Amino acid sequence: MLVFGHAGITLGAITLLNGLVTSTIRKRENAYSEIEPDNNTPGIPVSHGLSSWFTRLGHHWDLRILLVGSLLPDIIDKPLGQVLFRESLSSGRIFFHTLLFTSLVALGGLFLRYRTSRTWLLVLSAGTFAHLILDGMWRQELLTTLLWPFYGIEFPRAELTDWTENIWYDLLHNPAVFIPEIIGGVVIILFLWVLVRNGRLINFIRRGHLSNS
Ligand SMILES: [Zn+2]
Repeated sequence: MLVFGHAGITLGAITLLNGLVTSTIRKRENAYSEIEPDNNTPGIPVSHGLSSWFTRLGHHWDLRILLVGSLLPDIIDKPLGQVLFRESLSSGRIFFHTLLFTSLVALGGLFLRYRTSRTWLLVLSAGTFAHLILDGMWRQELLTTLLWPFYGIEFPRAELTDWTENIWYDLLHNPAVFIPEIIGGVVIILFLWVLVRNGRLINFIRRGHLSNS
């Protein structure tokens, strides 16, 4: 999976999950208090439909960090394993594609959240965890990397000859590659449309949140 697949599908999946969880909590709260459903919860901007779901997530999470996290394993491992240490490693999935790395980031995020109430590292770990899922790291040929160093200190080597050409070929001919990119691209376009339509693009770029405050 490439850039749009990872970034867009992660954003879409976590938006859906967050929207479902938030809706369920609100329904329960309204049922308990026997008050009419109210979208004017203090501090949460009023919005509807697709905007509402993106906004609920963007109010709590820095979505810029989530997007960076969704790409981080490839941003680090590909240059390291395919360019700088190509001879010795020969793989685009090394340290940052391991469960060990993601767990350490998540633990660091929990610690930071507990000590300072800052959530950025936790959000980053959610993005990197989503990356491992979308890469299908549980597959037999990738399991050794996912569980590194359980099966040994060396990472499996990959065939990198004509790697760039193969990516372009797969993008044009392989549905397993181009369909996720199309889905992710559509989510990114919808997200940008929500930002522009609500006049929140600049605020999002500056702060990572979707609210105007
Ligand atoms: Zn990857």
